[in-house]
Amino acid sequence: MKELVFATHNNHKLEEMRAILKNYNVIGLNDIGCHEEIIEDSDTLEGNAIIKANFVTDHYNLNCFADDTGLEVEALDGAPGVFSARYAGEGCSFQDNVKKLLKALEGIENRRARFRTVIALNLDGQQYTFEGIVNGIIVKEQHGEKGFGYDPIFLPDGYDQTFAEMPLDLKNNISHRGLATQKLMKFLEL
Ligand code: IMP
Repeated sequence: MKELVFATHNNHKLEEMRAILKNYNVIGLNDIGCHEEIIEDSDTLEGNAIIKANFVTDHYNLNCFADDTGLEVEALDGAPGVFSARYAGEGCSFQDNVKKLLKALEGIENRRARFRTVIALNLDGQQYTFEGIVNGIIVKEQHGEKGFGYDPIFLPDGYDQTFAEMPLDLKNNISHRGLATQKLMKFLEL
């Protein structure tokens, strides 16, 4: 079976990918002895995904893919975007981020937003990128307990439940990460 590194230390993400990419032996950074934090200092999602994938290919000479995700809010010119994880500051919690975003949108009518995931793949000397987008709005109050991050305040278009209210398999089917991953899967299965 072909081996493919997923540039993450997150075992949860790794398990998810293993379940999807069944024809590949998907291994993580820990499995190749890479225990350091890769510095993601690009100002775009594409840039950060490429930094992570290239780090592995350059240092370990292995085929690799990496992802990066951000929540882009129209009225905030695309913020928090690439800074979604640390919107409320280094070491902040998901709740800190959610509260900061609700405050930033207080009194603003335009609540349109989208989650965007970019996956960069380095395969046999070539680089490919895949994008997944889900459009929706930021609701005024938190709803639901499931999921993580901004899920309690993101209502995807066409649904009446936030990401934090809907069953995980439904979220995974329609989500930014789900869509980008499906594109990766289709490409790898060709
Ligand atoms: P990452 O690139 O997957 O680490 O995502 C960066 C940040 O975006 C996370 O820390 C979350 O704040 C946010 N995020 C990513 N994916 C989701 C999601 O599916 N729901 C809610 N927030 C998310």
